[in-house]
Amino acid sequence: MSFSQNIKDEILNVKSNRKCCSKVQRDAELLTENEDINIQELKRYIKKNNCCKKAFLRGIFLGSGCIVDPNTDYHFEITTKSKKNANALLDILNNLIGFEAKLLKRNNNLYVIYIKDSDQISMAISYLGANKALLTYENIRVERSIKNNINRNINCETANMSKTITAAYKQIKAIEKLEKEGKLERLPAQLKDIALLRKKHPDMSLEDLSKLCNDKITKSGVNHRLKKIIDIANNLD
Ligand SMILES: [Zn+2]
Repeated sequence: MSFSQNIKDEILNVKSNRKCCSKVQRDAELLTENEDINIQELKRYIKKNNCCKKAFLRGIFLGSGCIVDPNTDYHFEITTKSKKNANALLDILNNLIGFEAKLLKRNNNLYVIYIKDSDQISMAISYLGANKALLTYENIRVERSIKNNINRNINCETANMSKTITAAYKQIKAIEKLEKEGKLERLPAQLKDIALLRKKHPDMSLEDLSKLCNDKITKSGVNHRLKKIIDIANNLD
């Protein structure tokens, strides 16, 4: 399966309960389908809410997005047949979300909004909420940069974000393993509590997780418990 299809499969399950995001995602998708939507209203939502920035990315990507397999090339694109919508897409991506996308017109009357910068593509994948694909993407990127012996200035925020996601991915693998072996139920209540929370919120920060815990616990306490869960899962082998 293609890299793009993997991302689409992964984010189809990312649903937001927020009304603002559902609307933004739907309008964003319509934008790629050349529909006439209220662009000013859409921009107001995106300007106001960070959650809606992610919803916008999901909408346009599900509508007509493509990310080329990073083994081949760094390339992200969104297409639309409407010039007006193409300009709106470019404006929102660049001026409201912070990308540096470019626009070109293919001869068959198709407008292509594209990004070639690998850091920005990484940012796009993380906005999409495709955490598994982001991990794959980052691994390939590291391999490629070692191979090419290029010192890439990985943008600090992206690097930190990807570190957080890698950690969460390991925690979720451990939790799934315990579950599969029937050991999750038998964990001490405090560990089981955090395991279920992490599983439910794979991309939540430790600090936010700590606020959801049944007992009063700090961010480092949450980290300690998650490490313990990984240890227990590793010791099952
Ligand atoms: Zn929203």
